[in-house]
Amino acid sequence: MKILVVGANGQIGKHLVGLIQDSENHTARAMIRKQEQASYFEQLGAETAVVDLEEGIEDIAKAADGVNAIVFTAGSGPHTGKDKTILIDLDGAVKTIEAAKLAKVKRFIMVSSFDTSREAIQAAPSAFAPYVAAKHYADEWLKATDLDYTIIHPGALTNEDGTGQVEVATEVERGEVPREDVAAVIFGSLDNNTTIGKEFQVVSGTSPLNEAVKSI
Ligand code: NAP
Repeated sequence: MKILVVGANGQIGKHLVGLIQDSENHTARAMIRKQEQASYFEQLGAETAVVDLEEGIEDIAKAADGVNAIVFTAGSGPHTGKDKTILIDLDGAVKTIEAAKLAKVKRFIMVSSFDTSREAIQAAPSAFAPYVAAKHYADEWLKATDLDYTIIHPGALTNEDGTGQVEVATEVERGEVPREDVAAVIFGSLDNNTTIGKEFQVVSGTSPLNEAVKSI
């Protein structure tokens, strides 16, 4: 499979492109927003496409031309304003979903937030609520399509080394999870069609990662 990783230059994105390039059956196309970010991915043997998520659906669709799957792991991050929450976490995600349809790419994996329920929007501290709302509506948009989607809801992300041991289910107790393990769960989901049409939370746990993903 050729996989377009949107947000490839991010922390999960870099782990994921590494896993894809190390695999036998898959190759990555890294969607990045600056040309100077390309050499990192070229050294891994990955293709690159330079597109800013504030550009149009057609630009993203062009980046997705010929791929078999799209992973959305971009995010505006905590250091930008609410404008970027709307433009990247919500509209950037929705435009990527629409681009998938335009480019006729059926498989779509969304890296969401831990809890994107309506109740979670209401319960979130006011500074965090717009982000949860953005992720809620992006997830809903994806679920309303006929794409082969998987929505992954990771707990609080850490930069610890991955342990390969996770807990994965529709609902798990809130906890942390290394970005490296989240990347491995995304990678495992790409290889497991049983994850299609599903959404699940993931935190660190005691189940071997590949078995946990297969159990979804
Ligand atoms: P990250 O390191 O901040 O990476 C985000 C990526 O999005 C970066 O590569 C960034 O590009 C890219 N991006 C931002 N604006 C863009 C734009 N306009 N056009 C194209 N790309 C753009 O994030 P992460 O730690 O890997 O996390 C990935 C995802 O997990 C995010 O969606 C986040 O919302 C979600 N999440 C986070 C937590 C948490 O605890 N923090 C928990 C659950 C889920 P540059 O590299 O060019 O800046």
